[in-house]
This record gives sequence, C-alpha cells and structure tokens, in this order.
Amino acid sequence: KKCLSLIKKTKYLNAYITVSEEVALKQAEESEKRYQQGQSLGDLDGIPVAVKDNFSTSGIETTCASNMLKGYIPPYNATVVQKLLDQGALLMGKTNLDEFAMGSGSTDGVFGPVKNPWSYSKQYRERRRHDEHGDSHWLITGGSSGGSAAAVAAFTCFAALGSDTGGSTRNPAAHCGLVGFKPSYGLVSRHGLIPLVNSMDVPGIFTRCVDDTAIVLGVLAGHDPKDSTTVQDPIKPLMIPGEMDVSRLCIGIPKEYMVPELSSEIQSLWSQAADLFASEGAKVIEVSLPHTCYSIVCYHVLCTSEVASNMARFDGLQYGHRSGIDVSTEAMYAATRQEGFNDVVRGRILSGNFFLLKENYENYFIKAQKVRRLIVRDFVNAFESGVDVLLTPTTLSEAVPYLEFIKEDNRTRSAQDDIFTQAVNMAGLPAVSVPVALSNQGLPIGLQLIGRAFCDQQLLTVAKWFE
Ligand code: GLN
Repeated sequence: KKCLSLIKKTKYLNAYITVSEEVALKQAEESEKRYQQGQSLGDLDGIPVAVKDNFSTSGIETTCASNMLKGYIPPYNATVVQKLLDQGALLMGKTNLDEFAMGSGSTDGVFGPVKNPWSYSKQYRERRRHDEHGDSHWLITGGSSGGSAAAVAAFTCFAALGSDTGGSTRNPAAHCGLVGFKPSYGLVSRHGLIPLVNSMDVPGIFTRCVDDTAIVLGVLAGHDPKDSTTVQDPIKPLMIPGEMDVSRLCIGIPKEYMVPELSSEIQSLWSQAADLFASEGAKVIEVSLPHTCYSIVCYHVLCTSEVASNMARFDGLQYGHRSGIDVSTEAMYAATRQEGFNDVVRGRILSGNFFLLKENYENYFIKAQKVRRLIVRDFVNAFESGVDVLLTPTTLSEAVPYLEFIKEDNRTRSAQDDIFTQAVNMAGLPAVSVPVALSNQGLPIGLQLIGRAFCDQQLLTVAKWFE
C-alpha cells in the first residue's frame, strides 16, 4: 500500500504506463495469508516489482509505448513475468520506455518522457537554485528502460525488469543511482519480451543493491523450452559470498574506452576505482579492444536490419492498431504503420530494409556480422589473456536535463551514449552498472563491470564487493 501511494505521489515522473493496483492488492492479500500460515511461495513473496511495458503480461495491457500496441492485452505472461509471479512477487504495473525500446533517454514513447527522480533531490535542487529554468530543468532517466529505473529509484517497488539490447538497463541505472544488470545472453528467457534485436536482447534487472539483483537473477535464470537460445544446463542457486579475496582478480581497463566525450568527473572516478582494486591487491592491467570504434555503426546496421524484419508482424491484421484507411490491403498496411509507429521506429525500419536489399546485403549486413565477430574476438582475447572482469564507465556523462537532451539530434546523441554498453550485447556477455558516487551536481554516477560469458555469479560477486 505504501508503494501504491508512492506511485500516486510520484505520478509526475511518468514512470508507469499502467498501474495494476487491483492485481497488486489481490496478490498482497494472498501473500499476507500465506505469511500468516507460515507458508511462502519463494524468495519474492510479497515483494513489489514493476515490469517494463515491452514484456507481455496476461490480461494487462502491453503497449511498448507505441500507438501500434495501445489496447493490446496479451493472453499470456512472458516467462520472466511468470517466474516472478510464481515466487509471489506483487506486480505494481508496467513501466514507461522509448517506443519499442529504441532510444537512450526514455523521452521517445507515445506516453511522454520519464522524469529522473534525482531532478527533485534536495542536493540537485539546491545547486540549481539560481538556474533560469528553475523547476522545468528536470533530468532524463536515460533509457530505454527509464520507467523501470525511475520506479525503483522513487521507492515504488524493490525491483523492476528492463530490457537490454544495447545498454537500456545499464544506462538508466547509472543515471538513477541503481544497480542495473544485463545477464549473459541465453541465461534468461526472452519468451514474451517483444523483440527489438533478437540476437542481442536480454531481460535486465534494476534493484537498489547487488544482493537484490542476485535474488531476482536466481529466480529468472535457467532454461525455457519456449526460448531455444536459453542454456540447457541446470542452474545452481546463486550464491554471492559476503566477502571476497580481490587480490586474486585481474581487472582489465580497455584503453579504447578513454574517449574524448567522456566527462572528466567520470574519468577520474574510473581511475579511482581502478586504484581501489589495485590497493586491495588485484592485478589491474590495460587491455585493448581494438574494434570498439566500429561498434556503434556495426550495431546500427544489425539493429535496424533485425528491426525491419521484426516489425513486419505489425501489419494491422493480427493485433494492435489498424488504420481506418482500407481502400486496399497495401494502403491499410501503409496507413497502419504510419499511424502506429513514431519516426524513430519508421526510420529504423527504412534503414534496415535498405541494408537488407539484395544489392546491399553483402556490403552492409554480412559485413556488419563479420565486424561483430571481430568485436566478440576482442573480448575473448582480453579474457584469454587472464582478465577476469573489465572495468569501464557506463555512460559518457551524468543525467542531462531534458531540454538539453532534445536539443541535439536525439538519435545521434542516443547512438553516442551507448558507446560503453553496446559491444557487450554484441558479444552476449554479462555486465552490471554499479552506482559509485555523486557528481559535483549531486547526481549519481555508475561504473560498469563486464564479465566472461556465463560467469554472471562471479561478476555479481565482484560488483557486491565494489558497491
Ligand atoms: N539505445 C540503443 C538503441 O536505441 C539500445 C536500446 C536498448 O538497449 N533497448 O537501440
């Protein structure tokens, strides 16, 4: 009830698209009964959680923040949602995002932008007291899972699901002072997650501390017969020890991540963090990931190509929006997609179809796949040289004011912001953004730890030591 009242009080953040109050209250009542009888469904019994609105939820509208899916009520739960519910979690609602998870600001959905709760923190407001913009100078959450990040940061729930295709969980986690975890590709089922880029998408986890992330990951991880890309091996319970011997670790610092656009404050926190590991006896070495500079363009070609193919299903016939213009089937398709998608989505569909044209396919799509191999190889080489975990920034800067974010060409800005996160998705590795400090402006800053594929437990163990 406290969480529900906080949701109402913080409505101005625009974190939720749908608040499932009745569902949550009913679940809470049942959980309470179980508690009275000394029973428990599992680790999440009675814990309020929120879910990004691109995961299907049975009987609850699932929109992807798009006109295309407004009013769509899925007949089934995404596997991850079902797993949360099976453990007794209370579903508070569906959270806001960039349309179809395309973006890095959570500014581009049809329900309007998400506001970063830190915009209203005492420290930040004091520092901006004399600012000409006053209260209108609110900050973005980052994206695309900004609604989930704001929901956890505003204490309306204890954990939230995001999705992470190129950084969409880690980026808003860094901007909102949260732990944001992207599991290894294949560890957590994508069934029921409305796809952006199937070969890179993973469900992500937002919490306020690493221990909570480990609990949620323990619930979500494992094989799903409905997602053939999930691992077959049985998952052992996730154990994050309270203490760890850091002196046995080798931490890699990728030199190509030292880009000129990186804020000097983050740069100095990054090097302080490296010193911290070294002072505890860890081996800290510089490594090279030489193909990093190609990762943004490579991601762009692969992402838009998969988008073009994924979005073909939204034809006005099966579900979601259908235009009233129906003079011909073709005209109905065209009008449906014009009315249903924003210009970011339509732009990506057009780019993707261009890259997939017969005459372009070899030169763009196939080439991008080869570059992706090289990017993957960079990581493999670093880990084969003995590195256990890579330490990098998560974002180029702290959260920026909305008015600033939309000033530049939003899409270029979005693409740049993902410089530290996208390559990880191309390689399918686990990565976590951990809040490390507040900036001079009083805003949270996160650093990223990247682990070997399927060494998610080791990664979270290091993250816990680090947080
Ligand atoms: N910002 C990236 C994009 O726009 C990543 C989005 C995501 O991870 N969902 O594609």
